[in-house]
Amino acid sequence: MSARAGQLLLVNYHYIRGPGEFSVRDPGEVRFAGIHPMLPAEFAAQVRMLADQFHMASPAEARAFVEGDADALPGPSVALTFDDGLAEHARVAADVLEPAGIRGWFFVPSKPAVERRALAVHKVHWLRATLGPKFPAAFDALLPPIWRRGGDAKGEAAARRIYPYDSGADAVLKYRINFTLPQGVVDRVASELLAVGGIDEAQFCARTYLDSAALRRLNKAGHVVGAHGHSHTAFSRLSGEDLDRDVNANRAFLRDLTGTDPYWVSYPYGRDWAVPEDAEGFCRRFGFGAGITLATGWNRPGQSRFRLLRINTNEVNEIAAAA
Ligand SMILES: [Zn+2]
Repeated sequence: MSARAGQLLLVNYHYIRGPGEFSVRDPGEVRFAGIHPMLPAEFAAQVRMLADQFHMASPAEARAFVEGDADALPGPSVALTFDDGLAEHARVAADVLEPAGIRGWFFVPSKPAVERRALAVHKVHWLRATLGPKFPAAFDALLPPIWRRGGDAKGEAAARRIYPYDSGADAVLKYRINFTLPQGVVDRVASELLAVGGIDEAQFCARTYLDSAALRRLNKAGHVVGAHGHSHTAFSRLSGEDLDRDVNANRAFLRDLTGTDPYWVSYPYGRDWAVPEDAEGFCRRFGFGAGITLATGWNRPGQSRFRLLRINTNEVNEIAAAA
């Protein structure tokens, strides 16, 4: 290994939007509670800073590196990843990445494109941003009685630990949605709340997600278009036929779109609780070459390519300094 051996920092982005760009209906001055979008100008500045300081890895370099060639990267290197197939990612690629010669990794759930149904997670985000502090009670009121909120001190403590960036009420709701409530129930209640607000779900999809033409364009421009599950359910919460169906539907969609099987998968939610316990077995079973988590840190030689580390945009300054 050379003195400046390769190491790879994966940085993750979700929403990159200005005020008023979040929703189908402009929520005006409503704060983005629990969503943490990045402003387009902040994103451009962060990319400039990273590209000044580090080598920006190409997909081919990153793949060779994670497969064990420590010299495939010239030193500390960065790759930018974008989860959830959000509409604004096309703008980000065209306006910021491509002029700088940077290629990104775009991880796409297929349900919105295939079924014209939004992911529960984005419906919940939109509702939270739109209803603000009224959201937890409105959501609770539509739940079947057995799932309504009761005293759960242990769950609330866990929620605050897992979501330190959120206020108490938001953290508890996120925790219940991700851990306690059946995903079908969450999805149905979120759709009902959208309908109550006069939002058509197909229109919500069209505004929120990249369509197939935009995804084809990203692929053609040399970006990675990778797997992120069909319905964006944590793989750890699916098993047997449900897991097969979800992952294979996503793979088939991406194969149809790009002409090849996806090599990269970003585990939905990315945290320990959401990643398959046997990540390598999972990847081998479904034909993925590499899996990306949201466990924090630099990927140094020897890191399992089935459990690659990745940081969120708000951790960049702290972690980049530890190269
Ligand atoms: Zn995601």
